[in-house]
Amino acid sequence: MRICAKMRCTAEAVATVGLSYEGRVVVVGDLAPEPNPNLLDLCSTHVERLTPPIGWRVRDERAPEPAALP
Ligand SMILES: [Zn+2]
Repeated sequence: MRICAKMRCTAEAVATVGLSYEGRVVVVGDLAPEPNPNLLDLCSTHVERLTPPIGWRVRDERAPEPAALP
């Protein structure tokens, strides 16, 4: 198992977060099979608390919610 990338957090990572600079999107995906230095592995708590930088938005690709679709 892998540990959350946040400082002092020892919870198990459940998702991998990457930044798409082109579209200014924070992409949340399922935990990557291999550790990637360009991506962050986060626990469920920190994924929930994830706040994008100003001008960015978060795209959660883990479990699409039908209600959120246009
Ligand atoms: Zn954490």
